[in-house]
Amino acid sequence: MALEREKIYECEVRRRRVKQGGGYESYWKVKTVAAALSDGDTEFRCKDCFGAVKVLGKNSKTGEAPYVEHKVALDSAYCVNGLIFRASTDGRAARLSPNPVE
Ligand SMILES: [Zn+2]
Repeated sequence: MALEREKIYECEVRRRRVKQGGGYESYWKVKTVAAALSDGDTEFRCKDCFGAVKVLGKNSKTGEAPYVEHKVALDSAYCVNGLIFRASTDGRAARLSPNPVE
């Protein structure tokens, strides 16, 4: 059986906005990975478990959309969008990453 790769086409990116009363605050916004890359975003996390992700497929020669996958297998094992979680058959419950990107 071929090993399936985890491919998540939506992620959260860190954005900054002007805070009421001055200064800036950061917040997370859901976007497709393709839109995030064309907007020049550099900080990403999983939109479901807030775990760290890496961006892949940026220079796809086949024209496939870029995507993210979890950096940490434990996040994938308990994220609703995780490949390991979706393949699990033990009825486990999804949860947030124990080491979220904040
Ligand atoms: Zn996740």
